[in-house]
Amino acid sequence: MTQNRTDAWSRVIVHADMDAFFAAVEELDEPKLKTRPLAIGGRNSRGVVATANYLARRFGVRSAMPMATAKRLCADLVVVPPRMDRYRDISKRVMAVFHTFSQQLEPLSLDEAFLDMTEHCNTFNSPEELGHRIKERVFDATGGLTVSVGIANTKAVAKIASDVNKPDGLTVVYPNAVADFLAPLPVSKLWGVGPKAQDRLTAAGFMTIGDVARASDQELGPLGSNGASYRRLAQGVDYRNVGSRGRSKSIGWERTLDKDLPISEALMEHVQAAVVGVCDRIRRRKLKAGGVRIKLKTSDFKNMTRQQHLPDATDEPQKVLAAATALLNDIEPGETYRLVGVSMFALIHEAEGVQMPLFDRDT
Ligand SMILES: [Mg+2]
Repeated sequence: MTQNRTDAWSRVIVHADMDAFFAAVEELDEPKLKTRPLAIGGRNSRGVVATANYLARRFGVRSAMPMATAKRLCADLVVVPPRMDRYRDISKRVMAVFHTFSQQLEPLSLDEAFLDMTEHCNTFNSPEELGHRIKERVFDATGGLTVSVGIANTKAVAKIASDVNKPDGLTVVYPNAVADFLAPLPVSKLWGVGPKAQDRLTAAGFMTIGDVARASDQELGPLGSNGASYRRLAQGVDYRNVGSRGRSKSIGWERTLDKDLPISEALMEHVQAAVVGVCDRIRRRKLKAGGVRIKLKTSDFKNMTRQQHLPDATDEPQKVLAAATALLNDIEPGETYRLVGVSMFALIHEAEGVQMPLFDRDT
């Protein structure tokens, strides 16, 4: 992203969270429900609200509330039992969209995930553009569902940011604005602070996140061993990485050549062999790749890489070879190379279904 502000993005972390997900899916499938207060959950006397639409929330209906209470608050409440298979099906499409943006993806539940966009942010002119693109893609892939997006340089701040302008929100917190963003928010917004911890914090006199950020060790005393970690989070310090569920980030093949070669037909033959080998490996793992990268090492041991996103995720050698050839043809002639490699990234498992178009522009 263009660094048109002086603050540096050490990392670009997105938290994306579908709006009233179960209720929104029911409204999608039955548009009449859009104008009714709606709760998803069990209809019997011990039923609990799983999700309520925003109309029902105006009456005070909330997740985890007993259904009997919800009906007392809102006499016209429409109660629909959950259809988990349907939600899972839509969730797969949403996660497949996220995956086209970054393979460093950490789903937290069916409807929310962290994405580490640090390596891919140059594809976008601004974090706002990145956020809008994610929202558009989710809307298109689901036939009209909205997602709220928060973008920041830590997981904790991105998670709070996605929540502050729900529904259909987009909140970017620039690194030099983190403290001002957090300070006025209630302590309940701190990630990891549940109702119990919230009680302890307010009992100790902490109302806002800013109160916690400014607290001395002595003032934090009543919070015990958690005090210091609350203060760190309140100050926007969070080194946690976006987990990638252990999936390998890329699959590659490289060879040192018997003799150094310039960009030439002879070198292309090695690239072709590499492409066939890599495609075979990703196919055996039931993966498709959304991008191809070539690596070359010059005779004087300088590494260079070139990469390109593909219009559709693929395991077909022809398509990959075409992209690799285009990348090689863009390299200035004049050097000779001692090593050549091809790797494929933005891997998607076949089971994740829907293949989404990737970035419009090459990185
Ligand atoms: Mg949600």
